[in-house]
Amino acid sequence: MISKYPLLKINLNTIKENCSSIVRLCEKHGIGVAGVTKVTCAVPEVGKALLQSGCIYLADSRLENIERMRNAGIDTEYLLLRIPMISEAEEVVKLADISLNSEISVIQELDRAAAKLGKKHKIVLMIDLGDLREGVWVDNAVETAKNILTLENIEFHGIGANLACYGGVIPTEENMNILMNVKTNIEESCGIDIKVVSGGNSSGLPLVMSGNMPHGINHFRVGEAILLGRNVIDRSPFPGTKQDAFIIEAEIVELKYKPSVPIGLTGQDAFGNEPEFMDKGNHLRAICAIGRGDVIIDGLMPLDENIEILGASSDHLLLDVTDSEQNLQIGSTVEFYPNYGCLLRASTSHYVKKEIINKL
Ligand SMILES: *Cc1c(COP(=O)(O)O)cnc(C)c1O
Repeated sequence: MISKYPLLKINLNTIKENCSSIVRLCEKHGIGVAGVTKVTCAVPEVGKALLQSGCIYLADSRLENIERMRNAGIDTEYLLLRIPMISEAEEVVKLADISLNSEISVIQELDRAAAKLGKKHKIVLMIDLGDLREGVWVDNAVETAKNILTLENIEFHGIGANLACYGGVIPTEENMNILMNVKTNIEESCGIDIKVVSGGNSSGLPLVMSGNMPHGINHFRVGEAILLGRNVIDRSPFPGTKQDAFIIEAEIVELKYKPSVPIGLTGQDAFGNEPEFMDKGNHLRAICAIGRGDVIIDGLMPLDENIEILGASSDHLLLDVTDSEQNLQIGSTVEFYPNYGCLLRASTSHYVKKEIINKL
């Protein structure tokens, strides 16, 4: 039988507690939270936990993930986060109720697909506030909105922004006020009411907590702050959350005293780097059966603070366990907290098994 390791353990209790805490914070400020599942590849139990804990609906960047949750019987609205490929317009209308958009040609294609399927599709027009990922420029927002409003099968659901993703731009009162001004301009020029102003992702929550989020921003799409309990501006623990929702466990396959510096002439390692070594003398080294095919090494943090990560290749993770007080043996396992990128890699890896702890 194939081993249960490497293993990603998902603690639903923590996810539910974190989610309730963030939903409460947002509700106090008139903000609804769309629960973002993409970093787990939409494990259905995670989606259910988010809905049970007060999220208004679920959001994911991939249609496959939305389909997975629909097939698991999770009955809610779904928001597609990544602006759609024009080649997937029909699937977008079939699987997602709402999508974030920034290209009029794509929105026109969504309109045609919606007509064909006899459905209405809601869109949120993304405005680029300076982070330079998706979104129309502020100056083009009204004109784009006018074009969207001519489409019969598209419902202009709202506007939104995304910060702190490419440019690392932090949400502030100033840039959030610009978004509110765009809302007012569109409403006045087009004679409509905009229901949803989606202020962004987890990076907006510190501003919400400070009480300075401009009134009228009424929607956020939140993944990391709930799932990993992090303030994504500096990755410190987010108040009112725990950081143990996900743990990666790997098995020790070799345990030996070896020198800390390689012997012989050295060139490049398996990934084209020329590593440098510090001579710490002989130390107790463990090899775990997990590697870069499964996780991002820099994104692993051992739960045992006396264990140090030395390096890794595709399938082998090297640890210095000299100072560990655990009685480690061949077949023992070592646990790590993953950061966001590492969790994403583990979630997408077929080799990493997933286990739900604390059922719903
Ligand atoms: C991933 C994503 C989010 C959620 O981001 P977190 O930092 O995990 O909260 C929100 N909006 C968009 C457009 C995204 O792609």
